[in-house]
Amino acid sequence: MASATSPNLDVESLRRALAGQVFTPEDAGYDDAHRLFVPVYDGVRPAVIAQVADTSDIATVLTTARETGLPLAIRSGGHSAAGHSTADGGIVIDVRGLKSLEIDLESKTAWADSGLTAAEYSNETNARGLATGLGDTGSVGLGGITLGGGIGFLVRKYGMTIDSLLAAEVVTANGEVVHADAESHPDLFWAIRGGGGNFGVATRFKLRLQPLEKIVGGVMVLPATTDSIVGFIAEAEEAPEELSTIANVMNCPPLPFVPEEIHGSLVIMALVAWCGDIDEGEKVMDRLRGLAQPIADMVQVMPYPEIYGPEDEEYRPLAVARTFWADSFHPATAETILGYLEDSDAPMRVAQLRVLGGAMARVPNEATAFAHRNRNMMINVASFYEGPDDRPRREAWVSDLAKALSDGDLSGYVGFLSDEGEERVRAAYPGGTWDRLRRVKAQYDPDNVFRLNQNIPPARP
Ligand SMILES: Cc1cc2nc3c(=O)[nH]c(=O)nc-3n(C[C@H](O)[C@H](O)[C@H](O)COP(=O)(O)OP(=O)(O)OC[C@H]3O[C@@H](n4cnc5c(N)ncnc54)[C@H](O)[C@@H]3O)c2cc1C
Repeated sequence: MASATSPNLDVESLRRALAGQVFTPEDAGYDDAHRLFVPVYDGVRPAVIAQVADTSDIATVLTTARETGLPLAIRSGGHSAAGHSTADGGIVIDVRGLKSLEIDLESKTAWADSGLTAAEYSNETNARGLATGLGDTGSVGLGGITLGGGIGFLVRKYGMTIDSLLAAEVVTANGEVVHADAESHPDLFWAIRGGGGNFGVATRFKLRLQPLEKIVGGVMVLPATTDSIVGFIAEAEEAPEELSTIANVMNCPPLPFVPEEIHGSLVIMALVAWCGDIDEGEKVMDRLRGLAQPIADMVQVMPYPEIYGPEDEEYRPLAVARTFWADSFHPATAETILGYLEDSDAPMRVAQLRVLGGAMARVPNEATAFAHRNRNMMINVASFYEGPDDRPRREAWVSDLAKALSDGDLSGYVGFLSDEGEERVRAAYPGGTWDRLRRVKAQYDPDNVFRLNQNIPPARP
């Protein structure tokens, strides 16, 4: 039966051809199958969601996408802020059914399917006393975070997720299953380490594992003042690379472990992780505790995956955000952040400060499609909003604060970009990276079948 969306789309044939499941808007379970992390895209209605079971299913759906000309989205964990894992009237390849994980204890490597979440991967590897650095959130998909780069709690010690990526299996636009590593399809292997979903559907990743069972980590809440913020950043920069931190300077949410009189006041909600010797880690944490009397201190020795914290699937706030890099941090920077946070009455507003460097910075910029190795910090500014009417002023606040802190530099981390236009995508790939990516794109996806992403158009012949 042809669909109303495209006369060439024969859903029943597709259903018969796939080992996995196909959902259309008429099917029970469609809404659950479509549900994404960001609620803004709940109203988007793909014509088909194909929950693929293997590479052959993927090749079949790619043929359908090419023949019908319908827009094609790839979905792993569904966290894209830009809504790239869904397509109105289009086709979604959902890889969440691909969840195999093979751990080789001898070589300390794992072949992991791209449908695993960060928490699923980390829980299983932790059971063997091993870990790979991913991000800060357990429900993020291995597919999206790995292809975007991956900046998380082990970034200073072991680099980005792509620095642990040794090989990948990719189904390219013409349905070919390709093994990419340093020797085989080296250009593709370079491009998928930061180039996102532009080059094909990644089904499996070979990742390096580190011996790491426990960390010293958790949440530490400090009062936010110019001194405490500047002090925190200085400690995070000077600490050994075993420490990675995420400092959220924000209005304090009504958390049960924070005294009620603090709710709403400005705090540093710090997420910290130390992946080295436990006693040394405790000493480093004491230095952070010495910056100001902690309001709450949940930092403790814990199995590494516990750092992800619990997640409530029903908690889906609306938010606008902007990401950018910074090289230095001064008292004036902290004052600007505090001033903006005080001026806003958004239900939640935050400047997230992540000190980078270490192993991440030792990889040359040219080695991967992610090419911001020399930047000292990543800053993400975000604000919740309460509905479409509230959005413009929250957006303006985010944009103004980002401008004040970034000095007009447009470049940022592609994994955190929302739908911000071509200029921002271009700036995410500086120098010769952009042109090289376009050449690789022309080789593996000349017709731009994979265009629902932070798109890299193929180089013209
Ligand atoms: C709450 C939250 C916290 C985050 N924290 C971090 C963090 O700490 N560090 C960090 O680095 N990033 C972080 N991110 C960003 C995150 O890494 C990106 O949004 C990533 O793209 C999400 O991956 P996903 O698979 O969950 O999303 P999806 O929406 O499923 O995928 C996003 C895009 O990636 C591509 N893609 C996904 N899977 C595949 C595949 N198998 N093959 C080809 N292309 C694919 C597609 O283009 C897709 O549109 C965070 C995002 C959120 C929402």
